[in-house]
Amino acid sequence: MKRADFPEPIQQLVLCLKQLPGVGPRSAERMALWLHKSGMDFSETLAKSLTKVQADVGNCRTCGFFATATGCEICNEEERETHVLCLVEHAVDVLALERTGAFRGQYQVLGGKLSPLQHVGPADLPLDHLLARLREGPFEEVILALSNDVEGEATANYVAEMLESESVSVTRLAQGLPAGGGLDHADELTLFRALSGRTQMNSEL
Ligand SMILES: [Zn+2]
Repeated sequence: MKRADFPEPIQQLVLCLKQLPGVGPRSAERMALWLHKSGMDFSETLAKSLTKVQADVGNCRTCGFFATATGCEICNEEERETHVLCLVEHAVDVLALERTGAFRGQYQVLGGKLSPLQHVGPADLPLDHLLARLREGPFEEVILALSNDVEGEATANYVAEMLESESVSVTRLAQGLPAGGGLDHADELTLFRALSGRTQMNSEL
């Protein structure tokens, strides 16, 4: 005897939702049923917004941040500092740095990091573009703001070496303890980097 299942359109929707990050089969089913129950208005709004995101949002050709028909919010802003460029892995990293309010320069989004396991080599990242940008612009400093793991480290070292003979200084974000965390919760590597990246607190004698 054939066992009853969801109608085919719901099964299709569950299949789609299951592909979303962090969504397992059970939550996909719950979402599909919720969407079905929520009625046509919401579904149409959702469908329109998905299509609009795909049609209207791309990546800036200059820096790799999100861009729309009006261009890229970072590159369009004329008041930004033009001599310092921050290198990040993903477009969302730009937003994280922007929220700090501590950086007002230019960005370059790499779109990933070197990873032999994932078959990402130097040619897969826009490193030539970065080099061309640095040579073209009035940049004096490149800040490496890459992730704090083996691949991020390898990428930072590769870029630093690549820029060795360029006339820009290469810096990286200080690495240390997370805010609100005690020493006993920090792993050895974090503690090691926090110690080697320590800063002066009183005036130097
Ligand atoms: Zn841009």
